[in-house]
Amino acid sequence: MSLLTARGLHKTYGKTEALRGATVDLREGEILAVTGASGSGKSTLLHCLAGIVTPDEGAVLYDGRRLNTYDENRRTELRRTDFGIVFQFGQLIPELSVLDNVALPLLLAGASRGETHRRADEWLERFGVRGQRELRPGELSGGQAQRAALARALITRPRVVFADEPTGALDSLAGEQMMTALVHAVRETGAAVLLITHDAQVAAYADREVQLADGAVTALGQDQEAANSEL
Ligand code: ADP
Repeated sequence: MSLLTARGLHKTYGKTEALRGATVDLREGEILAVTGASGSGKSTLLHCLAGIVTPDEGAVLYDGRRLNTYDENRRTELRRTDFGIVFQFGQLIPELSVLDNVALPLLLAGASRGETHRRADEWLERFGVRGQRELRPGELSGGQAQRAALARALITRPRVVFADEPTGALDSLAGEQMMTALVHAVRETGAAVLLITHDAQVAAYADREVQLADGAVTALGQDQEAANSEL
């Protein structure tokens, strides 16, 4: 069943048409790779699907409801409860310990400090970075920092994980460790993943792949189900 759908999205920045009718369908629990050359609109598509950017035209549907009918507060709340995001550079908060970084989303959701630390420790343990819990993000290797960022994205058990080039700054071994950790974790939690990558080896971890070119899904990567549901 479709969990998150982009239908005919258009987005223009000045004279640049970042999206030109992109249609994509993310199903419950699947890992979908969105591939394509640099500048093809992948990040813009992710930002629209995550409710961070509002498309000029087209619709984003989450659980059958149009995201653009939600007000900003509701969208922010949704990102906190239902969505987890991992960027190319983990974007952990440099002043906080690794443990506090991972615990933060739960703390913001109102859980007690003891409970958030206990759960953060479980995720850190599972991703092999519990030994680094007291360190600052700057003291971690790139791979460790990305796995900590993944722990932070998953701690609220989101239904959708957005990963924008999550291995883009890692060497191939650290990239493999990151992808293995991601795939195992979401298979367990049941989260769907929108994985943006230009790396075929990373896309190979996905269940399915769609390709973007010039802001639209190419015929080769056509997401037939979503295209049909437009009719
Ligand atoms: P990709 O992720 O595939 O590299 P992007 O979605 O980042 O592609 O960008 C698509 C196009 O839109 C590019 O030409 C990019 O320069 C432009 N673009 C993206 N975001 C912005 C922005 N905030 N302001 C201006 N141009 C943008």
